[in-house]
Parts: sequence; C-alpha cells; structure tokens
Amino acid sequence: MNNRNFLRAVCALTLSIPFLVSEVSFAQEASPAPATPTVNKAELHQALLDLTNSYTVMCVAAHPDDEDGTTLTVLRRKHGVHTVSLFSTFGEGGQNAVGPELYEELGVIRTQETIKASQIQGSEPFFLGMKDFGFSKSADETFKVWGHDEALRRMVLRIRELRPDAIITNHDTTRGHGHHQATGQLIIEAFDAAADPKRFPEQLNQLKTWQTQRLFVRAFGSPTGPQPDRSSAADKILAVDPNEIDPVRGTSFAEQALVALQQHASQGPWPKSIEELLRMRRIETGKLPLIRYRLLREARGAPSLPADATTPFAGLEPSEVTEAVAANFGPPKIDGRPLTEFVDQPDRVLASLIDWRASQTLSDTVLEEVHRLRLREDRVNRALGIASGVSLTLTARRAALVPGVNTTFSISISNSGARGVQVDGLRFYGLGENLPVKAADNLLPDTETTVTVDRTTPKTATLTVPKEAHLYDELFLGIKLTAFAELEIDGARFTLNAPLNAEVAPAVEIKRISPSPYVWTPATLGRKWAFKLDLINHSETPFSGLAQISTGNNLVWIDEQIRLKPNEPSKVQLGFNDPFPSRELAADQRNAKLAEVAIIASGSRETITARRVPAVYVNARVKSRLRVGYIASFDETLKNSLAGLGVDAKELMVDNVKNADLSAYQTIIIDNRGYEAHPELVAANSRLLDFVNAGGTLIVFYHKDNEWNPDPKKNRPQLAPYPISLGGERVTVETAPIKFTQPRHPLLNFPNRIGPADFKNWVQERGLYYPKVWDSHYTTLFTTNDPGEAPLTGGLLVAQYGKGNYIYTSMVWYRQLRAGVPGAYRMFANMISHGHK
Ligand SMILES: [Zn+2]
Repeated sequence: MNNRNFLRAVCALTLSIPFLVSEVSFAQEASPAPATPTVNKAELHQALLDLTNSYTVMCVAAHPDDEDGTTLTVLRRKHGVHTVSLFSTFGEGGQNAVGPELYEELGVIRTQETIKASQIQGSEPFFLGMKDFGFSKSADETFKVWGHDEALRRMVLRIRELRPDAIITNHDTTRGHGHHQATGQLIIEAFDAAADPKRFPEQLNQLKTWQTQRLFVRAFGSPTGPQPDRSSAADKILAVDPNEIDPVRGTSFAEQALVALQQHASQGPWPKSIEELLRMRRIETGKLPLIRYRLLREARGAPSLPADATTPFAGLEPSEVTEAVAANFGPPKIDGRPLTEFVDQPDRVLASLIDWRASQTLSDTVLEEVHRLRLREDRVNRALGIASGVSLTLTARRAALVPGVNTTFSISISNSGARGVQVDGLRFYGLGENLPVKAADNLLPDTETTVTVDRTTPKTATLTVPKEAHLYDELFLGIKLTAFAELEIDGARFTLNAPLNAEVAPAVEIKRISPSPYVWTPATLGRKWAFKLDLINHSETPFSGLAQISTGNNLVWIDEQIRLKPNEPSKVQLGFNDPFPSRELAADQRNAKLAEVAIIASGSRETITARRVPAVYVNARVKSRLRVGYIASFDETLKNSLAGLGVDAKELMVDNVKNADLSAYQTIIIDNRGYEAHPELVAANSRLLDFVNAGGTLIVFYHKDNEWNPDPKKNRPQLAPYPISLGGERVTVETAPIKFTQPRHPLLNFPNRIGPADFKNWVQERGLYYPKVWDSHYTTLFTTNDPGEAPLTGGLLVAQYGKGNYIYTSMVWYRQLRAGVPGAYRMFANMISHGHK
C-alpha cells in the first residue's frame, strides 16, 4: 500500500461517516495570520513523547472524581501512554456544593467537570451511562437498579472498543459506596468477558474480542502507617510516585492532578494546594505516599510484573503485530536521541518528522492491529501539526443550531510556521453530510485561509436541549461536526481534524421554569400562580410571540405577549389565576397534574417549544401569621416551599443573623449544609441560640460530620445548644419503613397529623450523616433503617432550650420538598409551626 492509500485508509477509519457528496457554497479569503505563535514547548514535547508509547491504559471509576487522576497524569505526561477513563455513571445522584442543580442537571455539570479534569490529566473520558440513583450500600442494591448484565455488556463493549493493555481502578468489591463495589466487581468480570467470543457475541459483528493484559486494583494504605508490601510473595505491586516533578511543566504530577481534581467543583471543597492536602492527611514528611496498585488479574501467558514496576505495562512485551508497528513506525530520532530532547529546536524536529514520515511504509500485518495504528496515526498528525505550526479550526457563527435555519461555519487553516503547506483536501462533516470544501492550494508561511460553509440544519434534527433531558443519550454534549484537512509539507503528508460540538435548540429555548414543581396548599388556594421563565432567543432576529400556559385539561390560562432580542437570555414573569380555586378542584388533580408552558410564534401560531411543570396540591397547613427567616444554601427549595405553604418568609444573610433584630421571626431555618455554604455563620451561631432561648424555633437541616462536629482547628464549637455528634450512617432505601416512637408528640400532630402515608413516594433516600451521639435533652420521634441493619433513631432531634425549640434533622427533607412529595410539606409545616401554638 503506498503512502497516499495508507493515509486514505486511516482517514476512513478515523471518520467512518457515510460519504454523501453534495454542492457546497463557499467564500474564501486569504489573510496574514494574526500573530506568529511560538511553538508551545510543553505541547510539542507531549506530542513527541506520545510517539514513543503504543500502550493504552484505562482507569475505571464509578463516578466522576473517583478516577485516579494522579496516575493518569503520570502515565500520559511522563510516559506518553494513551489514557482513557471509564465512568459507570454521570454522578447525577450526588450532592452539589456550588449550585442548585441536582439529578440529571447535576449529571450534565459533573460530566463537563470531568471533561475539564481529563484535559488536565491528558486522558479521554467515556461513560457507561448507568443511573446514579444516590448512595447505596451494596453491589446487590446497585445491580437491582443497573441490571448486572446490562452494566457488564456496556463495560465489555467499551473494553472491546478502546482495547486497553492494562486497566486500573480505585474500587474493590467490598468497600464503600455500592456503586463502587459494583464497578469493582464488573471490571473483574469484564476483563475476562471482553476476551471471550461467547460473551455478548452480537458485539462481534462490529468489533473483535480483546484481552487486556493486566488488571490492577488500588491498594490503599493508611496515609502515614503501613503500606501494602511489595516484598510479600502474595501481592504483586505497582507503585507510582506522585511527588515526581514534571521537568517539562515544572510542577509535580500530584500538583497537576490536584488542579484536575479541583475541576470537580460541585463535589468540593477540595484542598487548595498540596501543602493543604498534606496537612489534611496529617502527613509530616512533606511527601505524598506512593500510589500502590495490586495486580488482580493477568492474561494467560502475560509476562510477569517486575518487582520494581512503576507503570501498569512494565515488562509487557510487544506482540508480533505491535513489533511490526514499531518496526514501521518506531519513533523518529535525531543522532540516535529521542525528539523530545530537541523541543528547543523545533526546526530540526520538524525536518526529522518530515523525513521520517516521507519514508514510512506499511505492511499488511500492521493493519491487523488497526486500533494501535489509528492511535499512532492520530499522534503523528498531531505532532506534525504542532511542529509545523499549522492548525485547523472550525467555528459556527451562532451559539446554537436551529432546525430549518441556515448556519454559517468557518473553517480556517493557519500556517504560522516557516515552511509552505500544500492543501490537498478539505472536508466538512456533520448534519448528515460529508462535503468537499474548496480552499487555497498553497499556504505560504505566516498566512491563514478561511472558507465559509453555509448549511441549513435539517428540520428533523434532534434537539440537544434541555440538556438534562439528554443526559443518557449524551446529546447534551452537542452534535459533532468536524473539519478535516489533508495537508502536505515537503512531501510529508498528514491530516488535521477540527471538531466542533454544536448545540441544537429551538428558535426560542425555555432554559428554566421556576418553581417546578408548582406546589399549592390550603393557604395558597385561589392565589395567582406565578412562574419565572428563563428564555433565550437563538435566532438572529428579534422574536415576537406569546407565552402560553395551559393545564392538563387543555384549557389555556394565559397568553402573554413576549418580545425577545436576538441571541440574548431574557427573564419573563407569568402570572395567572388559580385554575382550581376550590379545594375539591385542587384535590381532584386527575386532569391537572401538569401545567404546560408553550412559546408560540406570532402570526403563524406555530408552537416553537413547550415544557411541562408538575403541579401538586398538598393538604399541608401551617400555623397562621407565621414569620419565618431562612438561610439558603445552594438552591431555592426553601423559598419555593415556604411560598407554596403561603408563609411570610424572608431570606437571611449571615449579616442579618449578626445584626438584625431576630425577634421579628418566630422560626428560622438553616438549609442543608448551611454552615458549610456560609462558614461565617459559625461565628454568628450564638445569636441563633439566643434567638431560640428567647422563644424562637430553629430548624437545622442535615450536615456532613466534618462540617458539623466540633473542631478546634477550624474554630468550630458545638453548634447545637445541647451536644449532637454526627456520624456517617445513612438510610439509603427511600421506602425504608418508618416506626413512630412518639406518635403523640406535637411535632407529629400540629397542625397536621403525620402518619405512615406521609413517608410514601420519597425520592433517593431517607437521610444521611445521622447523629451518632446526642444529649438527653433531645427527643426522637421515629426510627428507620436499611434492610438488615439496626434502626437509626436520630433522624430528627427536638429539644426545648430556654423558651424556644431546637430541631436538628438529618433526613433529606430538601430532596422531598424539591420533588413535591406531599408528606414532606406536611412535616415541614409542622416543624416551622412548632412551639407557636
Ligand atoms: Zn464515587
């Protein structure tokens, strides 16, 4: 196969898109490149290092932030390994330390955080898309939701696609979160199943089986105590030094990995520096311990792991085919030394790459191991692009593609190098098309050429918004468009790809409707329903039309005129009369469980987009004329819930707690993790306890043990009036039975009589970080537990303090209020009314 055919073969592999050639309109302009960028030495070094390593290492993790970012960083930045990470879930069941988003919206955020972290680690992330349904305690509980065989099928598929030589994971089969245990178990099974033609044979129509050579599981030692022993005959240990300084970037690999970890901001707070990390882990040596992995599985006949292994592929011998790859494509050298030693002389590097590339031949044997070839080819192209100073970009003139509307795309080839580049071909892939694009044939040094492509997004194109509705099909990341260039410099041919992920959205998008769900109660019956809409007009012209609300029985309740500027987010308020102004109508929701908000274009009366809002009528009463203050943490749950209950409520800032006259309130609520969200609240806490002492009711939602328990290092005293010490226990089964131990307690009887029905239809879990020890002043009201575990009694603690009342509750009321669970509204109404008969 000659060079040109070889290139075409590889290109066809890289972009296996059906070939549909059609006419393309283009405009072209040649202009001087904006500035001559100096070659980024770290980038060039990485590209050259990548040519020296043909291994792929996969890190398998249950959730975003469970990956071993340090080892991934070392493997790519020090060794040039192709590193991929594979996540079982998008992490949507977790908490959010920085914003209001939960569930699928959080999954979108955590995936984006993972993409940013991966860029720093130099790895590529992939997701199995299993549902993150929140904390679970066992692999069995996890598999009940995931389906064991489906999860295994997906993992085997990814292994067969990505073909890792070694797999590492932080998860074993027995410790921690059930998702971690399940992932630890799956990877052991998948290691064998991916190589077995009898397992998931339907995958073998497209793919081949794959035998990974080694599987490693993290051997966690104590930070300062004994470490897994590599001298023990039973354990084969791989050890990675995170403290090593990366000579190219001047920081340690651990520091780089910490910056990657910090990208998972929703799961923070993270240590700000390695020094802080060392302090937190009480390490006084100034060095992080070695990262150790135990060899758990190896392929039959795999060479044994050397005793001093520092990489997962240490001692692996290249297969016959890989040897052929190496023989044909062994990395270029200058005077027998690797090119990475010459990054200060980019001209010599480029000349060497050009000579080497022009002399490459390809034997048929090599095509057998086509995945290594494809990876190598990608890396050669990248090295030539960086060394030559030639780059390709694809941009769209609009932020979102709108079905039926034309978009102008720009493809630019910039030559900031010293040699001329010949453009042999340019193509645009996307929107179901593969178009040849005409560009300049030759690009002199220091010039740039830009061509534009006008395409109409098909009317039938699938929308990628709202993003949270497209978590599991991964369309929330946008549709993929690519510009592809075939180039030649002094006889060396190479290709460049410029990807663009584009959102596909309706002409007017409803970004958010608040509140959702809409909850109303006896106190708010007959009041106006009010919604806030966040809209964005994706057109290039102003939009004029109607916002319309209808209910499940198709009655339209409002037609509000709206005008939106092009490409600009806008907020619109809609209010309309309660469509169910009597108790009977409200309680009979058979036809009214949803309100639909639609945006209608003027003139055509065409519905541009519509979104639905659940509407829930709850028979929850509050003591009348209550004045409530609340300290919100991350979202508007408290605000919306109190509004639904018809309570006169005001959001308090920490300054208000410090300075305002708190006797204006009868009840104050601290949202979940409020002391973490507002660290200054700790110093103002005595004001809140004085408020209770004087007759107020203070309600504190759940906190994590390390955010709550007294800690002199953090100047944090006991925060409750009588001691409460939190542990890490949870009740994760949302249907776990509730046993009432004080059924006559006022909290369970006024104003609403609480019974077992109020704990029905809960979401995700019952509670977390349950109190472990508490003072005898507290009364407990009910117990609950996960199957097979001892009852936990401290889910809600209530005590009189002075003339007032203090309530600490580790149950997840906020998730239930947010989901519109009626019983949670009734119990919440009792909590805020408590002590105010
Ligand atoms: Zn996790």
